[in-house]
Amino acid sequence: MEDCDEERLTAFIESMKVRQTPFLAQLEKEALGEGVPIIRPQTQALIQFLLAVKKPGRILEVGAAVGYSSLFMQEYAPEGARITTIEKDAPRAARARENYEAYRKGKESTAAGQAVSVPELLEGDAAEILPSLPDEAFDFIFMDAAKGQYIHFLPAVKRLLACGGVLLSDNILRDGEVLESKFAVTRRNRTIHKRMREYLDALTKDPELITVVLGTGDGAAMSVKNTAPGSAGL
Ligand code: SAH
Ligand code: MG
Repeated sequence: MEDCDEERLTAFIESMKVRQTPFLAQLEKEALGEGVPIIRPQTQALIQFLLAVKKPGRILEVGAAVGYSSLFMQEYAPEGARITTIEKDAPRAARARENYEAYRKGKESTAAGQAVSVPELLEGDAAEILPSLPDEAFDFIFMDAAKGQYIHFLPAVKRLLACGGVLLSDNILRDGEVLESKFAVTRRNRTIHKRMREYLDALTKDPELITVVLGTGDGAAMSVKNTAPGSAGL
């Protein structure tokens, strides 16, 4: 496809309305204004879709930033779903906690007396926190941290995913850069480029995962852990 056709296609798809609450719309606006790289509109639609189909009760996110996507999942996951998210940047983690409180207050003012669930934030490096979490504890995992680290997190993430659990990995296309030859990529980005290729390779070749790679948003890979007893395997 020609570049401009591709841009028009993206603009067309992004013009489609994604369901969103006024609170989330405001938070999205603030985050974008500050240059925080939050989930794009079509990724939001994909997450809504997956939450509606899968109805996960336990969700893990790697990379909270200021809490937009974790609150988005809290809003559209089944009532009472428990969300754990990890963020290593202290100022962002503090902002996420403030946003969780603002979300809680907003909900409590409209649904008086009802318990409001908000995400739990674990502050620190996912490389250290992931190994401390229990086996098969999550039925939905959203991978959205440093792109060059996905490949290193994969063994832990697979262990944390329940049978039949879904792993959604964001930004796998890195604005199209993943398609380029490694020679066309600047030196700074070459390692990330190589590791993202390795990650996609690992996801698609893993006998315990079924993976579909989508161009949605900045690219997303959707994997399901297919290790239930009696399953045919691959
Ligand atoms: N999920 C968020 C955006 C996350 S941006 C949203 O859509 O709203 C990626 C975040 O991952 C950044 O805030 C960065 O600080 C964090 N991050 C990067 N590497 C990390 C690591 N190793 N452990 C924990 N957080 C990490
Ligand atoms: Mg992202």
